[in-house]
Amino acid sequence: MVEKPHLIGHSRAELVELLAENGEPRYRADQIFRGLHQRRLRDLNEMTDLPKALREKLGQIAVTETLSVESRYLSTDGTRRFLMKTHDGYPVETVFIPTENRDTICFSSQSGCALKCDFCLTAKLGILRSLTAGEIIEQIVIVLNDVYGVGGETPHGTNLVAMGAGEPFLNFENLIKALDIMSDENGLFIVPGRVTVSTAGIVPKIEEFTKLEKRPNLAISLSAPTDELRDRLMPINKRWNLDALLNAAKAFERTLKRGERFTFEYVLLGGVNDSEKQAAELADLLQRYNLRRVKINLIAHNSAEPLEYSPPDDGQVERFKAVLEANGVSAYVRKPRGRDIYAACGQLAAKAV
Ligand code: SF4
Repeated sequence: MVEKPHLIGHSRAELVELLAENGEPRYRADQIFRGLHQRRLRDLNEMTDLPKALREKLGQIAVTETLSVESRYLSTDGTRRFLMKTHDGYPVETVFIPTENRDTICFSSQSGCALKCDFCLTAKLGILRSLTAGEIIEQIVIVLNDVYGVGGETPHGTNLVAMGAGEPFLNFENLIKALDIMSDENGLFIVPGRVTVSTAGIVPKIEEFTKLEKRPNLAISLSAPTDELRDRLMPINKRWNLDALLNAAKAFERTLKRGERFTFEYVLLGGVNDSEKQAAELADLLQRYNLRRVKINLIAHNSAEPLEYSPPDDGQVERFKAVLEANGVSAYVRKPRGRDIYAACGQLAAKAV
């Protein structure tokens, strides 16, 4: 780990404290916070509004850059995939996905992943380590600077999704701290409503998340309508089965404000979980738990060797969706992005193209 404090992962209060310990007034902490987040400067020397002596002192006691970009891939559909490395050599992947109305940054909460979802390439890496709050934020800053230029204004409507490598709820504290810092109006100002956290089903953390005051959107990866199949596809189901998961989801649903919904993600694997019968079972499952304020995102599996699953037929995706809708469940098909550069869902595994 970095011995010196990583300034971008400090809340404003922590920066004030750090500066005070070094005999500096509060307004210097505010300047530094704005420099790191609002202006997205990664080098202290670029903060020319700070006295040179202070920049030098800070350079001795703290760090501002810990991630390096190893490679950057551009898809034919405009998606950019960044393969970064932590200071201690672990891979971090981040994906920028432009769409007509808004841009989305899909970031990683961990290097590798401890869960063993059978359809996911990241699972093959195992868990390398959790990322710090600073590393989570630094990913976003690097991507924003690449797309909009250093200090360029972050367009309103940039969304964040914690759907890159790792299980965000197994790095809960750092994730929530990072999101809190990024929501600061003197910083990146990416408010919780523009953030979605996706979990494979860490039930106690869903319960903790439910109680948060400033809460991002929630997505739960389901991918199977029965315990038998989910045990096989997502072994975390053996720890917290569908009953435990859907009860936690129901408790979360009860706390939603007017007009809010949450999401179930369902990765469709050709011939495995994509039949009309399974769609009907899924709709029935949601009805049994009286889950009404949900939408289902259908994600066609993206082939990636050495995974043995294949994508579903296009027609099958539509038939699966139609059964859900006929049973009163809102379903959307998520268009795959960046498949050609290994940036699509389930494909992140530090792979060079
Ligand atoms: S799908 Fe997500 S939780 Fe499952 S192994 Fe992959 S990164 Fe981990």
